[in-house]
Amino acid sequence: MRRARQLQIAALTAVLAVSAVACSKDQGSGSGDTKVKLKAGSTMEKLNKAGKVTVGVKFDQPGFGQKDPASGKVAGFDVEIAKIIAAEMGIKESGISFVESVSANREPFIQESKVDFVVATYTINDKRKGLVSFAGPYYVAHQDIMVKKGNPKAIKAVADLNGKKVCSVEGSTSEKNVKAKAPQATVTLFKTYTECAEDLRNNKVDAVSTDDVILGGLIDKAKEDFELVGDKFTDEPYGIGVKKDDADFRNFINDTLEKIYKDGRWKTAYTSTVGKFLSAVPEPPAVVRY
Ligand code: GLU
Repeated sequence: MRRARQLQIAALTAVLAVSAVACSKDQGSGSGDTKVKLKAGSTMEKLNKAGKVTVGVKFDQPGFGQKDPASGKVAGFDVEIAKIIAAEMGIKESGISFVESVSANREPFIQESKVDFVVATYTINDKRKGLVSFAGPYYVAHQDIMVKKGNPKAIKAVADLNGKKVCSVEGSTSEKNVKAKAPQATVTLFKTYTECAEDLRNNKVDAVSTDDVILGGLIDKAKEDFELVGDKFTDEPYGIGVKKDDADFRNFINDTLEKIYKDGRWKTAYTSTVGKFLSAVPEPPAVVRY
C-alpha cells in the first residue's frame, strides 16, 4: 500500500516536472515564430523569443499614423512598415504594442528603451544620428506650408512667413527649418500637428508648416478649411529609429526594406494608406547604409 502510494507520488512528480519544463520552454521561445532565422544574440532574436515588440508611432497623423478612438487601432503607412518589420522577426500582429511618440520624445523613447523602434515621420539627420541610429530612408517627404482655404494672407513661399504667425511642433525639423528660413516669423509650438491645425482653424496663426504628407493628411480630413501652399522647401528622408550602434538591427531593417521594395509589400503599404489621398506612387528611395 505504502509502496503503491510512493509510486503514485513519484509518477505525479514526474508529470509535474515534465510540464514545468514544457512550460518554461514555451515561455523561453515566446509566441514568436521559431522558423525565422535571426542572428544569435541580436535584438531581432530577443524580440522573436519574447514574441513581442513595442513600436513608437504617431497617433494623430492621418495617412502615416492615426489612432481610431473608437477601435483603439492605429493605421497608416508607418504602422504598415512597423507591422512588416515585426512579421519579418516572426512576431504576430497581436504581439505589437503601438505607443504614441510625439516628435520631441522619439530619441528619448529609443534611448530609454520605452520602444524597440520608431516609425513616425522621422527625418534622418546628423544631429539625431548622434543619439540614435536610422535604417532607411523608406520615404522622402518635403516641408511645406498649410494655410486657410483661399490663402487670405497670400503666403506663397517660406520667405512669406516672415512677419506672420506660424505653428509647428517642438522637437521637429519643421520647427528648426521655419526658424532658419523665416527668422522674422512668430513661431507657436505644440506637441502635435493637430493642435496646430486647430490654431489655424481659429485664426490664432496664419500658417502651419511641416512635411507635405502630414499636411496632406490633415487637409484630406478638412478640405473646406485648409489648403497647401506647394513650396516644397526641404527634403525629409524618413528613417526607422533604433538604438544607437545597434548595427545588426539597422542592417536587418534595411534588408527588410530592400526586400519589400522588390516584392511589392512597400507599394501595397503605401497605396492602402497615404496613397489614398496622394495620387502618384513614388519610387521608394535607396536605402543608405552607414
Ligand atoms: N519629419 C520631420 C521630423 O522628423 C517633421 C515631422 C514630424 O515632426 O514628425 O521632425
